[in-house]
Amino acid sequence: MDKVNCPNCGTLLAKETLRCTNCKYPLRVKSAGGIVKIKSPNALRLRNWCVIDIDHHRLLYSGTERVAEFYIAEPTIIYIVNNSAEIAEKIISKREYQYLPNLRRKVRPGKLYALSYKPTADGKGHHTIDEVDAIYV
Ligand SMILES: [Zn+2]
Repeated sequence: MDKVNCPNCGTLLAKETLRCTNCKYPLRVKSAGGIVKIKSPNALRLRNWCVIDIDHHRLLYSGTERVAEFYIAEPTIIYIVNNSAEIAEKIISKREYQYLPNLRRKVRPGKLYALSYKPTADGKGHHTIDEVDAIYV
């Protein structure tokens, strides 16, 4: 996890900290809502994929576009599934977010992410969702 020092007392804090745990100095204003964009890998091209908000158990995106766009009001833990919206809704109703932990992460309003897929020897492949500076399609 990224760390920052409190500018007032120097305590080492998690980057997301809103207020210093030692001296209560406000580090940042609570972030406002914004659009998140996530680029899917080539392997998912033309297949329906969905982004689920697992904090609030709702679908944020469903479609076949290369870049998913959706609004979140605050940092949100998402779960990506390579399925139809109908199947995603079943996953939401059963709270089945545990099978692919690499497809789950916290995203922040206004940030860009890239979903990558790397095949592995066992044929299962390995996913990562990384924050990126720009999205090239
Ligand atoms: Zn402090």
